[in-house]
Amino acid sequence: MKLAGIQQSTMIDYPGKIACVVFTQWCNFRCHFCHNPECVLPEKMMLFQNDLIPESVFFNFLENRRGLLDGVSICWWEPTLHRDLYDFAKKIKEMWFLVKLDTNWRDWKIVKRMIQDGILDYVAVDLKHSLPLYEQAIWVVQPAEFFISYQKLLQVLLEGNINYEYRTTVAKWLHTLEDIESMAHYIRWVKNYYLQNYIGWNTLDPNFGWKPFSDEELWEFQKTASIYVHNCEIRK
Ligand code: SF4
Repeated sequence: MKLAGIQQSTMIDYPGKIACVVFTQWCNFRCHFCHNPECVLPEKMMLFQNDLIPESVFFNFLENRRGLLDGVSICWWEPTLHRDLYDFAKKIKEMWFLVKLDTNWRDWKIVKRMIQDGILDYVAVDLKHSLPLYEQAIWVVQPAEFFISYQKLLQVLLEGNINYEYRTTVAKWLHTLEDIESMAHYIRWVKNYYLQNYIGWNTLDPNFGWKPFSDEELWEFQKTASIYVHNCEIRK
């Protein structure tokens, strides 16, 4: 795994748990509002190759956190791009930590396998836009299989017993109330759907300006999405 960083402890990332976060490098999207272009764009990634964290350092860190952490969140920028994700997560699980995976749903098969094999305890899935407008958010054209993968992963999570969440970063230039409704309708019946306001700094698209939605606008989104999903919250 190409490990770009470790957040040693958080009570926010893994709902109800104290977890560390391990960030992987490399992503198949190019979201305008991405805050970490250095872990997404190959030309910027090259500059950080010497700063990558060896797995041994991460596992030593984890060994020293036994009893202090409940779990590990494997996230950003797209962990399923790494062929050794399964073995990496399995090793964490074998150390008796809970494992949460954040994904942008590019590979439903590996996620399903990890769930079936009892490696994952929680899955967080990004939903960037309503499907017809998806590429406006991620800034790259995706093949049809990509959207099939999303549908399959949704089915796996809806029909399974694992804890999961869907979440959308909402941005003024990208999303309208109709888009929120369309997204919530698409993932209708999911347990938890979180909306988080776009915060603008160090964006991958340097021209993507900063103007967050107001609290009133966010509440309107929440009210609308709540018609379709079991629980919708604004995540600060
Ligand atoms: S914000 Fe988009 S481009 Fe950045 S890591 Fe997440 S999915 Fe990839």
